[in-house]
Amino acid sequence: MTALYRKYRSAVLADLIGQDDIVRTLSNELRGGKLAHAYLFAGIRGTGKTSTARILARAVNCLEPVEGEPCNRCQACVEILDGSAVDVLEIDAASNRGIDEMRDLRERVRYLPAKLRSKVYIIDEAHMLTTEAWNAFLKTLEEPPAHVLFILCTTEPHKVPDTVRSRVQRFDFGRVSSARIDDHLRSIAAQEGVELDPAAARLIARAAQGSVRDGLSLLDQCFATGDRPVTLETCRRALGLAHPDVIRALLEGLAVRDAAGALRAAGAAFDAGADPRQLLRECSRLARAAELVAVGFAEGVRLEADEDELCRRLAAQEPDGFWLRVLEEMGAAELELRQPVDARLQVEACLLRLCRGGSAGGGEERLDRLEARLGELEGHLGSGAREARPVGRAPGAPAAAPPPAAPVHRAVRTASEPSRTGSEAARSGQRTAAAPASDPPPRLSGADPAGQPADEARASGELEVDPAEVSAVGPLGAVAADSTGTVAADPTAGAAEPGAAVVSRLPDSLVTLEAWQVAWPALIEAVNRRDRVFAGVLRGCRPLAAGPDRLVVGAPYDFHLKQLGNPAKRPILAGAVEAVAGGPRELVVEFCGAPAAPAGGAAADAGAQLTDAVVATFAGSRITSTRLVDHAHDPVDEG
Ligand SMILES: [Zn+2]
Repeated sequence: MTALYRKYRSAVLADLIGQDDIVRTLSNELRGGKLAHAYLFAGIRGTGKTSTARILARAVNCLEPVEGEPCNRCQACVEILDGSAVDVLEIDAASNRGIDEMRDLRERVRYLPAKLRSKVYIIDEAHMLTTEAWNAFLKTLEEPPAHVLFILCTTEPHKVPDTVRSRVQRFDFGRVSSARIDDHLRSIAAQEGVELDPAAARLIARAAQGSVRDGLSLLDQCFATGDRPVTLETCRRALGLAHPDVIRALLEGLAVRDAAGALRAAGAAFDAGADPRQLLRECSRLARAAELVAVGFAEGVRLEADEDELCRRLAAQEPDGFWLRVLEEMGAAELELRQPVDARLQVEACLLRLCRGGSAGGGEERLDRLEARLGELEGHLGSGAREARPVGRAPGAPAAAPPPAAPVHRAVRTASEPSRTGSEAARSGQRTAAAPASDPPPRLSGADPAGQPADEARASGELEVDPAEVSAVGPLGAVAADSTGTVAADPTAGAAEPGAAVVSRLPDSLVTLEAWQVAWPALIEAVNRRDRVFAGVLRGCRPLAAGPDRLVVGAPYDFHLKQLGNPAKRPILAGAVEAVAGGPRELVVEFCGAPAAPAGGAAADAGAQLTDAVVATFAGSRITSTRLVDHAHDPVDEG
């Protein structure tokens, strides 16, 4: 039986799912005969990169194109479709990394196509090419022969050298919305004559995480069970998903730090055949929702009706960043599952950490609350008359007097952290010791148990502050969360960061620099909920570049660079980024210099960064292209 994703591979651009902008641009280029010489298709797997490349290969060679699209019936189209066309070459860079292959390609590129109008080279996994191979390829790109079209496909565009990126037209294939995948799945089920429960289709669409191909593979798995109609229950079993009641019980257990309850729920899920990774993902998805509801961004969450109610309750129960921690821990546990480990044990250890660590239940928690209350009272006593001051201050009023209640409250909350971070340090020490000798995942690496106590001591020294010191850090508190969890703009923040307004404008998918610039205040707020001081550090930084799987953060000074590189702080940032973006990102921190006055000596460097910034900003639109002059309609140049 042919896999569904092969059988239903898009045959023309108009069939591509969820890449409307790319389709529009490419269609225009094809109709106008204005294709570039070389393209870079970037994006996560299963979003249509290779399908588009193959459609382009046919479109430039089709004998009877319709509105720029290939007819898929003429001799040229048929030969390309059945893979017998010698002029269309698909190269898997993962297995052809070498400079020899690229030199060979460079030689062969010179010859005219044997049969078709254009030679098309589709280079899959292009990021796998070696530097030498890239250099050889670059020589070809500098003087591209008129009869050749290059299409580079990659899931990791940042690994493609800048020199190449600046010579190709780049398209970013975004994650496809689950609504579009849902439609697609139901249409395919109808064509296959299989009855598919709408709730089951929604579930598969969600599990596909933006990849059409993954969605179709999952649908294949459900069809393979033989159950007809395909119900929600069929789907859950085929995909190894736990029953929602079990997930609900697990999260509710976590919320009250009932370790036994959470473990019992996990045990029930495993006994019913749930996949550990899927279990973590489902819990993470709902934890993210609870966290977003807690920060007052409920509209950023798309949930089924019963889940909505659950997440609101979880958010109300634990409004202070606990669900962000759940996200971090579960993300880390999922990473560890990539190593050969006992998956069940790993999940259980994660649940135990969540119940034991943090503002642990029982005595410790009561102590924390007592401390917080004491601190609050002290704050009131200390600030005295300031209490009566109206919240809205006139501009120009001294910044050293923020409204006392909120900052003091928050400062006290962070002051109770050492006990938590201490146990966190202990456990990350354990985890490092238990990890296999091979490369540990980045978010765990460098957790140096020996170095930790000193860091913690220093950090706690900074954190145990009196109200006067809080005033000194006041300007950092641009966006503060009040006790109900709603985001409110702090009047001391000035015009720079209109918190709530910005949060509600968050774009759906954070894959571009522009989107991250808009989302930056929300990210800072997410970090602020875990670590106020660290949020202050982040406030001095800015996003430099972004892609579907990556975020580059610019650090203006060495101080910021060191703080962002601190292994104890890194997971906080990674978790916040994941929460805001709705998915993990590879985090890269780069020194970017102070924004105001760039040093004269670093001019060249600044220029390069500017280029990077421009490239990142306009990712997805035309950057630089060497154009073919409608070669499709010209006689082949014999010279
Ligand atoms: Zn054709």
